[in-house]
Amino acid sequence: MSLTEITRRIAQAEAAAGRQSGSVRLIAVSKVQPLDRVESVLLAGHRLFGENYVQEAAGKWPALRARFGAVAVHMIGPLQTNKAKQAVELFDAIHSVDRIGLAEKLAKLAQARGASPEVFIQVNTGAEPQKAGILPQDLDGFVAQCRGLDLPVQGLMCIPPEAEETTPHFALLAEMAARNGLSGLSMGMSGDFEAAIAAGATHIRVGSAIFGARAYA
Ligand SMILES: *Cc1c(COP(=O)(O)O)cnc(C)c1O
Repeated sequence: MSLTEITRRIAQAEAAAGRQSGSVRLIAVSKVQPLDRVESVLLAGHRLFGENYVQEAAGKWPALRARFGAVAVHMIGPLQTNKAKQAVELFDAIHSVDRIGLAEKLAKLAQARGASPEVFIQVNTGAEPQKAGILPQDLDGFVAQCRGLDLPVQGLMCIPPEAEETTPHFALLAEMAARNGLSGLSMGMSGDFEAAIAAGATHIRVGSAIFGARAYA
């Protein structure tokens, strides 16, 4: 599928949900994709990408930004606290804030820089033991803690359980965001971004539907 086709489907889903055209931002998830595929999406004019690994992003984006100009890159994968400094220098947003130690570190770095990346809190909506994210019952307290640190929280992010219908998870995330006065909703991937848009997603994270299947080494 091409970027054009995805863009068309996004517009259609926005219209079907009665949402303003352009209200959903498409994060093209370029992790482990060959460089020529990433370049062709840049050449098509797209300027918002998502990465999962600090090291991989650090090896890729400084040169691409030098060639293509301003490109926003969002961190959507798990972030180790000892990579937080490198992350705030590289990324415009971090979607995977999932523990207080990381929030504290990011707040400290933001204060020192006088600028913070946009922050999304990852919520483990399915309460899966192996999955990162704040548990739903702990979310309100965690948002308050982040605000106490002066960390600007933009919204919430989730990755629903693989075997389940995603819509109830999207609805839960939307409800938790509304209750906490947060406007950002990072949810929806290649297989379910239209359902996420219907549920209010502001940021969808689409990889394989744009770039093709990922070939892990
Ligand atoms: C890899 C990844 C995506 C993109 O997944 P696709 O199914 O290829 O669209 C989205 N979100 C996160 C957190 C990811 O790790």
